[in-house]
Amino acid sequence: MTAAQALNDLIRVGADGRPIVSLYAVVPVDPKDEKGVRSRVNGLLDELDPLTEDESLDREARLSLREDIVRLRRAVLEEHWKPPGMAVFASSARDLFEEVPLSEEPGDRVLVDATPWVRPIATALDKDYRACAVTLDRGRAVFWEYQDDQLAQIEEVDDPVLRNADYTGGRFGGRENATHHKVQELAKKHFRRVADRLEHLFFPELDHEAQYQTVVEGVPVPAGRRFDVLVVAEHGDEVSGFVDELPDRVREKLAGTFTDPSLDDRGALKAQVDTVLDRWEHDRERREVEHVLEIEAMGGWGVTGLHKCLWAASSKGIETLLLRESDQAPGVVCDVCGWLGERGDICPVSGDRLRQAPDIVDQLLQSVLRDSGEVRTVEEGSLPEGRSPAAHLRFPLPPEPTPA
Ligand SMILES: [Zn+2]
Repeated sequence: MTAAQALNDLIRVGADGRPIVSLYAVVPVDPKDEKGVRSRVNGLLDELDPLTEDESLDREARLSLREDIVRLRRAVLEEHWKPPGMAVFASSARDLFEEVPLSEEPGDRVLVDATPWVRPIATALDKDYRACAVTLDRGRAVFWEYQDDQLAQIEEVDDPVLRNADYTGGRFGGRENATHHKVQELAKKHFRRVADRLEHLFFPELDHEAQYQTVVEGVPVPAGRRFDVLVVAEHGDEVSGFVDELPDRVREKLAGTFTDPSLDDRGALKAQVDTVLDRWEHDRERREVEHVLEIEAMGGWGVTGLHKCLWAASSKGIETLLLRESDQAPGVVCDVCGWLGERGDICPVSGDRLRQAPDIVDQLLQSVLRDSGEVRTVEEGSLPEGRSPAAHLRFPLPPEPTPA
């Protein structure tokens, strides 16, 4: 199961009073370091021992935790967890045991609550987009897949070029214009083929005249996998005009361009693509933050700060939630109507008893995802103090209920 599928299931595991252990651990790439992960995980699980004796929990909960600890200790010993990290959710009382490989290193952590603690999975997925890079000159284009910090060649498109573009008709001259025209015409044809191929890579569901089978380093790509962003690298200035040939919907995916890609050195090429993607990510984040601050100032469609974001999620009004990893606070949840708050015993909306949550921001994030909103984890410094989390709304919020 992929992390995305697992997240989709985990946010729907409702609270029923029985405890769920959520465990996150960094897994080293080098198998020689396996001992390290074992001792770290055992250290985390030691922290839970007092809970198994805690008389404020009922007997079933204590027994469940005891069994979960045993099972998790066994899992880290016997199972080969994948680097760079794993999330494991266990509740023997609820018959739940799920291991989720992560594409980013999580912080080592264990947490017990009535629902799975999923924030690190959502954060890793936020960064886990699939990029396509294309390096091209007038006659040749190479496509690359960039995902999970790996750059892999997909395929090439080769088109005829005039071998001697400077051919001017020899000593009699007079052919310069015709040659130039021919060169441009061939380049344009080539660009169109490349643009067409890109359109198929980004929108495989469209019915294209040519049917392609996408192969990455000799391995066919399963149908339905698509790219999220595009990076274009041009050799010199001979391909100016290529971006103009892209269909609008492909151009919208363009993260950036650079010139003179290092085709002979994949590490150097990857570094060039990284630079473009880092800048794109950073710009996207800055734009989203600025946008929310701007629309909040105009009133209605944006909110900042935990209190308002909780009410926005309770109203199912969040389109995009922006949060920092450091945003964390205890809070309360109504499992009947979904109301989220910072404190209280009784839900002000439905009058039901509230459940205490150790990390209300995790509950907030899950609520937004369940309502098909998006969640982005932004850099620590990108939101002003006291105004994180922040949210872009679907509609202006109704007035808040008065506390019960
Ligand atoms: Zn309620």
